[in-house]
Amino acid sequence: MEPFIDPVEIWDLINNTRSYQGRVREVIAKSLSKQRLTLEETAVLINADSPDLIEEIKDGARELKKRVYGNRIVLFAPLYVGNKCTNNCTYCGFRTSNKFAVRQTLSDNQLVKEVEALEDNGQKRLILVYGEHPAYNAEYIAHTVRTVYSVKKGNGEIRRVNINAAPLDIDGFRIVKDAGIGTYQIFQETYHKETYQKYHLGGKKMDFDYRLTALDRAQEAGIDDVGIGALFGLYDWRFEVLGLVRHTNHFEACYRVGPHTISFPRIQDASAVNIDPRYMVSHEEFIRLVAILRLAVPYTGMILTARENAMVRREVMKFGVSQIDGGTKLEMGSYSESINEDQDLNREQFKINDSRSLNEIIDELLDDGYLPSFCTACYRKGRTGEHFMEFSVPGFIKRFCSPNAILTLAEYLEDYAPPSTAEKGWKVIEDNIRQLDGEKLTGQIRERLALIREGKRDLYF
Ligand code: SAM
Ligand code: SF4
Repeated sequence: MEPFIDPVEIWDLINNTRSYQGRVREVIAKSLSKQRLTLEETAVLINADSPDLIEEIKDGARELKKRVYGNRIVLFAPLYVGNKCTNNCTYCGFRTSNKFAVRQTLSDNQLVKEVEALEDNGQKRLILVYGEHPAYNAEYIAHTVRTVYSVKKGNGEIRRVNINAAPLDIDGFRIVKDAGIGTYQIFQETYHKETYQKYHLGGKKMDFDYRLTALDRAQEAGIDDVGIGALFGLYDWRFEVLGLVRHTNHFEACYRVGPHTISFPRIQDASAVNIDPRYMVSHEEFIRLVAILRLAVPYTGMILTARENAMVRREVMKFGVSQIDGGTKLEMGSYSESINEDQDLNREQFKINDSRSLNEIIDELLDDGYLPSFCTACYRKGRTGEHFMEFSVPGFIKRFCSPNAILTLAEYLEDYAPPSTAEKGWKVIEDNIRQLDGEKLTGQIRERLALIREGKRDLYF
């Protein structure tokens, strides 16, 4: 495959659009009229650095989120399955040279216990995370996915299992697809090859191109639901934003569907890490880059994780985030046994900064006027490219997304929420039903809510 990231092109775009600040409004308007931005237009937004223009970009992103996606936030949890790793990524606590890391792979039994504990909290969507190691091959990943789907406790079940693991070959991706995964997520870490080589000092991950083309192999194996990401803090954030947009364009050009999600983790403290502080991204820059991404790729889901603290998450969410994790624990085995109240960096990949429970997060979302959702309907109905549909099919959100968010929130309130959250949640449900037009649809939702109250589960549109 021809390399599709050209550093010279990206830097030229950044350097040659500095004087285009007069175009910022026109670019925001294009995005608000539901058109994806070109690389050059994205570079125009990146170069807009006066306080007024930054505010306009943030307003634009907020407006786009409100107008197109409404108030839903999808919830999930990460589950670390194994942290053995043969790579040497200098920013990661799991890297092979970190002798302090406590290595562990969950046994089937432990995996079941973890999933039961997550179900007891109300989780319905998980992302399984693995180091890169011969023990975590495609068959093993597929086995753990099947195990997770098989665990049912009370009304609990996991309805969508996503994966964050090393790149596979095409046959490997086929094996994992057959286990029924949702999204296969791989972060390029940095789109700047030279920097990539500086941070990846051993193991298979040293091969920049093999990683960059991983999700093309996934597509070839029939996995059209993929997630991309960059680890912010390794190289210039402006370059990484254009790298992500270029990667998105590549998917659209080759497969006629963009990535399902974009992630934008920021480097966090990890056991014995070694990072050049030059490119650390400030909170202000972080908000800017999220808003720019929202405008640049308006129909891609955006994931914000518990790497960020509660305050930053609350702020950044306004600018276009569609998914967050809740109740996150990174230490292996810690969902089922509270091994350590304090985080132990030698057992974790990195430090998380939002350790609130899922219910605390749902409480805050409800207070802030969001509609928490555990919806998995599109994936199970075979409606792929759901963000694109949300974006481009008139009425899709009102017909499918909001009703399914309401039904999955109702299940949560019935099965897992304390009375104070349930009271708040049912009010939010009522408010949201009122905003949906059409007696037929609202009647159908009310019928299903009555069934949920009677004990029926897993109803969706
Ligand atoms: N081993 C696989 C890999 O490298 O793709 C699985 C994923 S790794 C466990 C998940 C992601 O965490 C990495 O892709 C990286 O972007 C991120 N990560 C690693 N170290 C981090 C750190 N110190 N702070 C924040 N994120 C980090
Ligand atoms: Fe291993 Fe992934 Fe950590 Fe790199 S980022 S050391 S591949 S777990």
